[in-house]
Amino acid sequence: MASDFVFAPPPVVSVPVVGRSARFPVHRIYCVGRNYEEHAKEMGFTGREPPFFFMKPADALVVVDAGHTGQVAYPSLTKNLHHEIELVVAIGQGGRNIAAADAHRHIFGYAVGLDMTRRDLQNDMKKQGRPWDIGKAFEQSAPIGPIVPKEDAGAAEQAAISLQVNGSDRQRSTVGQLIWNVAETIEHLSAAWELQAGDLIYTGTPEGVAAVVAGDLLVGQVEGLPALTVQIV
Ligand code: MN
Repeated sequence: MASDFVFAPPPVVSVPVVGRSARFPVHRIYCVGRNYEEHAKEMGFTGREPPFFFMKPADALVVVDAGHTGQVAYPSLTKNLHHEIELVVAIGQGGRNIAAADAHRHIFGYAVGLDMTRRDLQNDMKKQGRPWDIGKAFEQSAPIGPIVPKEDAGAAEQAAISLQVNGSDRQRSTVGQLIWNVAETIEHLSAAWELQAGDLIYTGTPEGVAAVVAGDLLVGQVEGLPALTVQIV
């Protein structure tokens, strides 16, 4: 029978949608590297380079409902787990070769996300010219809050973005500082991959990335979206 599997298939990963009972089923997670100038500088780079991308598996998400505190287990192998607060774009309509001018009709909504990074392992891989997966694509590396439909999200692409750790500011900027804005990012991504409904795009992080340790409480915000709160355990 076509419905037989040799073991139980994993559940569909999904994210709650503010104001709706139906959830957003996740296909892929794309991430943009070094997409704020001041963050590129703190990573040792300058200037506007073509956008580049990496992925995380959909089951790396830690889905945190509004008003709740998610838990992120401190991952193995690292001694330098970094936070990266990011605006996440949720794709509602797929496509190939989407022009920037046409990109917004492909967007379903926006959420607040954290691109958690094993920075020591990522740096080792960079030095050796090897893939970043071990630094970026581990379990629980992608906390995310609820998705707000774009018609209810205000000016998310220009909004204030911030991260506090234990009540102190670590990252603070505006999404308007993105080097490659959301529409341009969708144009570049969809030239390389066929975007599908259910794709999430972590759009990049502003300056101020730093380490967290077990016990730390992280509160990420993009003005107009529900805050994302997680504790490292
Ligand atoms: Mn990032």
